[in-house]
Amino acid sequence: MKTDPFLPSKVAENRDDEIVRCLRCFVCMAERGTTQTRRCSVNPLIGREWEGNEIPEARKKKKVLVAGGGVAGLEAAWTAARRGHQVVLCEKSDRLGGILKSEQAIDFKHEMYELGLTLEKLAREEGVQIRLNTEVTPEYAEKEQADALIIAVGSRPIVPPLPGIDGDHVVIVNNYYLEKDKVKGGEVVVLGGGLAGCECAIHLAREGRKVHLVEMRGELAPDANIRHRPILLKELEDRGVVCHTNHQGLRVTEEGLWCKTRGEEVLIPGTSVICAVGQKARRDVVETLLDSAPVVKQIGDCIRPANICMAVYQGYHAALDI
Ligand code: SF4
Repeated sequence: MKTDPFLPSKVAENRDDEIVRCLRCFVCMAERGTTQTRRCSVNPLIGREWEGNEIPEARKKKKVLVAGGGVAGLEAAWTAARRGHQVVLCEKSDRLGGILKSEQAIDFKHEMYELGLTLEKLAREEGVQIRLNTEVTPEYAEKEQADALIIAVGSRPIVPPLPGIDGDHVVIVNNYYLEKDKVKGGEVVVLGGGLAGCECAIHLAREGRKVHLVEMRGELAPDANIRHRPILLKELEDRGVVCHTNHQGLRVTEEGLWCKTRGEEVLIPGTSVICAVGQKARRDVVETLLDSAPVVKQIGDCIRPANICMAVYQGYHAALDI
């Protein structure tokens, strides 16, 4: 109910695949603890029930072009369509879901992957026209003549310029779901101890591998919320992940990852290396589109890489503002 106020009617009508499910992300409990507000990553209406659950219909129906089919773009497109707008969503790859696609390889994050599928279904059913393998360029937007453009082009992984980082035994964490077979051997190094790196390390340890988690900073997962982080750290410990904080990656070799710590060079051994050092907003793409429609909005990771909650809320409110 918390994640989807329409859950009872969806169950009663046998529409289970339209239920927006809980991600077990603990944002709700963390927000209570830090800001005393009610918030749910996937339900922007929570805490505002007195306003009603229905989306206000737009007074003037417009043509809305959404660039990017990740969670922010899908939420915006679905919400704009519910308001009665004519919505076209373009995705440059051949599948929707954005960064959530990478969650399908990690069993305890499968709900996040499924959120992309659910939002896609809801958007399609609401009449959003979806064009895959289609990148919105200024020329494309000009041709479409939309009244509003919502830019949701996301982020790209940061790949540090280390010698050997382009080796065959190195996998960028976002591509792990596509390149799982490249991760071989019983000992693996994960470079980057943010949330994504920690969760990948836990997943690999659960597979029975010895995992080394390397982080340049002095603490792990500072980007995890206050309820999630202690559980995450406990799980790293319970799974036997060897954590190397204050280690700066220097170069990747066949033997593993060479690092610098306390003035010394040390080898963190591993037959494969997962690179999880973070995401960078695709500002270069955003900048090219800023003048491409009478109304232009930016949402999600293309502003600044954040989390699902931010993407959903920004997508929802951008659609309300049109
Ligand atoms: S914030 Fe996360 S954990 Fe809490 S109800 Fe929403 S999806 Fe579930």
